[in-house]
Amino acid sequence: MPDSLSAALCALRDRTAALARDHLVALRDDDRLTPGERAARVRGLSKAAGLFTLTQTADTPDLTLLVARETLAIHGVGHLSGLFGPPAGLLEGVGEPLRSSHLLPLLAGDKRAGFAFTEPADAPRPTWGQIDGDQLVISGRKSYVTGGADADFLTVLVEVEGQGPAMVVVDTDCPGVTLARRFSSLDGSHHAAFGFDRVRVPRHQVIGAPGQGRSRALAEISAMRRAVAADAVGTAAWVVDLVARDLQRARRGGARAASERLRLRYGEMRIQAYAARATVYRTARLADAGQDVVNESIAAKVFATEVASQLVDTAVQLAGGEALVTGHPLEQALRRLRALRLAEGETDALCVNLARGHLDLGKGRL
Ligand SMILES: Cc1cc2nc3c(=O)[nH]c(=O)nc-3n(C[C@H](O)[C@H](O)[C@H](O)COP(=O)(O)OP(=O)(O)OC[C@H]3O[C@@H](n4cnc5c(N)ncnc54)[C@H](O)[C@@H]3O)c2cc1C
Repeated sequence: MPDSLSAALCALRDRTAALARDHLVALRDDDRLTPGERAARVRGLSKAAGLFTLTQTADTPDLTLLVARETLAIHGVGHLSGLFGPPAGLLEGVGEPLRSSHLLPLLAGDKRAGFAFTEPADAPRPTWGQIDGDQLVISGRKSYVTGGADADFLTVLVEVEGQGPAMVVVDTDCPGVTLARRFSSLDGSHHAAFGFDRVRVPRHQVIGAPGQGRSRALAEISAMRRAVAADAVGTAAWVVDLVARDLQRARRGGARAASERLRLRYGEMRIQAYAARATVYRTARLADAGQDVVNESIAAKVFATEVASQLVDTAVQLAGGEALVTGHPLEQALRRLRALRLAEGETDALCVNLARGHLDLGKGRL
């Protein structure tokens, strides 16, 4: 078997493919459904297929998540809302009282969370906090918090004076927290900007020890980068299939698959998709072997999203103007992938980080 997948992973792949083919594609294309109705149906189907909870425990191997996400994306449904349960994320393993007040309600779907890491470009200084007795007093601003407008709480990166960076749980209804702006990006996702004006939170809402905030956030971001990479390689395979079907379609003057020029483009696309897929699979296997994969997760995310974007762009060029009509699957994929080249780290900034990882810290492998 070329991917050397276990029998259990082959079964997961086949079950996920059947779910996508038999149900999810139809739900995606059903214009009569509201987004809420569609998400509820997707959630029900995903739970029945045993996918929903895969993201909710740290015990799920990376390769399992990759196979599930890639298979969904290969069928053009990896972006549907409701496929996976809210992950514990930074709250994984927290003790009481955070476990009962935030983690369990999050996993049950009773509370929603936002990840507040990015500062707005004009913020005078990174969000900061001062210890005052058994409270932390937080001031500053964050932006681009995906799902922030509906969040019950945020996990916020805060620079605690004298102690270093910390990830802190902040309830959005806490006095001093303001929802400054709601906005959406071209991929259709929704975000919010927040202000924090001397927000007082109990010290037990700091996750882990102060000073560990950035490394905790980085571990979480690394996992998110691998998730983005899995979605991107699945999308790359989906687009290559789409182009093949289009080239082989009978049309006046013969199928385009006879054209040497189009064969050349198509061959290049397959090579790129193959290389990206190999990178992402290798990274998942390294992660499952317990290796430090911060640099490899960067490489997988950057390479897979850049390749998939390029492939979708080429596919649009080969398909012609109809691919740019609003609602065409390629038009939608183009917008989604454009956002993924920025989300979870912008490509150039990540390449510079990776260079620093190797040149200054001796990390990462080729
Ligand atoms: C769909 C989507 C979802 C997102 N969701 C979230 C979320 O839930 N939570 C969250 O916190 N953030 C989120 N973000 C924000 C995202 O993480 C940031 O947009 C991304 O990390 C880039 O940061 P930035 O926008 O501040 O741009 P910058 O970091 O300012 O980068 C802009 C440009 O400046 C360059 N640059 C940066 N630093 C330097 C330097 N020192 N020297 C020279 N050039 C430099 C970069 O290479 C880039 O070209 C999301 C973004 C998107 C698009």
